[in-house]
Amino acid sequence: MKDYNILLDVRRMPDVWYNITPDMPKPVDPPLHPGTKQPVGPADLAAIFPMALIEQEVSQKPTISIPGEIMDIYRLWRPTPLRRAYRFEKALGTPAKIFYKNESVSPSGSHKLNTAVAQVYYNKQEKTKEMSTETGAGQWGTALSIACSMFDVKCTVYMVRVSYEQKPYRRSLMQTYGAKVIPSPSNTTESGKSFLRQHPDTSGSLGMAISEAVEVAAKSGGTTKYSLGSVLNHVLLHQTVIGQEAKLQMESVGEYPDIIIGCCGGGSNFAGLAFPFAPDKIKRGKKIDFIGVEPSACPTMTRGIFAYDFGDTGEFTPLLKQYTLGHNFMPPGIHAGGLRYHGIAAQLALLVKEGVMRAMAYPQNPVFEACMTFTRAEGIIPAPESGHAIRSVVDEALKCKESGESKTILFNLSGHGHFDMLAYDDYLGGKLQDYDLDQSVIEEAERSIPKV
Ligand SMILES: *Cc1c(COP(=O)(O)O)cnc(C)c1O
Repeated sequence: MKDYNILLDVRRMPDVWYNITPDMPKPVDPPLHPGTKQPVGPADLAAIFPMALIEQEVSQKPTISIPGEIMDIYRLWRPTPLRRAYRFEKALGTPAKIFYKNESVSPSGSHKLNTAVAQVYYNKQEKTKEMSTETGAGQWGTALSIACSMFDVKCTVYMVRVSYEQKPYRRSLMQTYGAKVIPSPSNTTESGKSFLRQHPDTSGSLGMAISEAVEVAAKSGGTTKYSLGSVLNHVLLHQTVIGQEAKLQMESVGEYPDIIIGCCGGGSNFAGLAFPFAPDKIKRGKKIDFIGVEPSACPTMTRGIFAYDFGDTGEFTPLLKQYTLGHNFMPPGIHAGGLRYHGIAAQLALLVKEGVMRAMAYPQNPVFEACMTFTRAEGIIPAPESGHAIRSVVDEALKCKESGESKTILFNLSGHGHFDMLAYDDYLGGKLQDYDLDQSVIEEAERSIPKV
């Protein structure tokens, strides 16, 4: 009998988050204040984040225990299944063993609820009345809307205008959970008005929407706090339940991955899977090939510049040391909306810089081609974001086919694609365009990066 589904007993679910900070090969350069360019202190962040999350952001502790109330909510869908993709292996004709962690089973359909629940919990503890955020493709806005409804906190989501118009069901999903959804840029904020003056016909961007959501929190006098769905240390921290569970599940069938793969927007789902395995490589010298996969249209780690840059277009956020395409970068309208961000998490950037992990980029047609093979073998329709990871899995599995090696590959299925059928429709109709970024964009990024 083949064990397709490798389930973890709910009593063995990890009750801590793993903090990679003390295990990093080098310390990450500290975030800098956008005005003074000096390191930011907790007080600078207190206007927009609750103290508990600021403490997690800078914590040196190796683990942080997960409060019981969060564990109770996690148990609604966790532990998530680890699946051995026998049918996918067969379709590829590969001797490689392929495993995937299925984060698409959460109520929001992606890994993002892991951090949304934690963030709203700590906000509720500190009496936050309302939360503001941005969303591109809609997955993060959906996750935060669900978490806010669970804790009875109000939620305002600035949704990138093009998605607001193209994805009406994503919008109604958030509204169903009780969130207020505003197309960005909007005239409800000073930054939004300024973007509209400069670019009256803009379809919006994540960088603009972040500026609006941060402004609302900063000007609320403490009643509204801001929430980010990726990039920051505390977000990556919350996602480590994925990798900790996967490690136990792999162990239970006597396996350990040679290759670990995840798609990268801000880096949180890949970090969530990969970081709990990272000390085995950093401290114990184990050979693991960590591959973060991004779109060729938004090639942050493969072609970006390693430097301090803003997280948003309006230049309100602290400067983070990262790989960046420049905070004014407007990615082409590819379907993997969750991967259209100009920067990447600082911790992940440093691990790539130091050679502990590596990055790959793919155009969207080869990504969807891999999704088709996966879907027809495994039955699950992946989010286009997750499809980037699958493309890389296919390539590694085909390399094994050539060499006859039977490597063990683990990847993260970060979400399902049920709200992305327009993308599949475009692919099936031969309408998807592949973009390769012009070098002039990188030169423009060089110019826009602040001098520190
Ligand atoms: C948001 C999202 C991503 C990209 O964000 P990361 O922080 O890099 O994980 C990837 N996959 C899905 C399904 C998403 O919703």
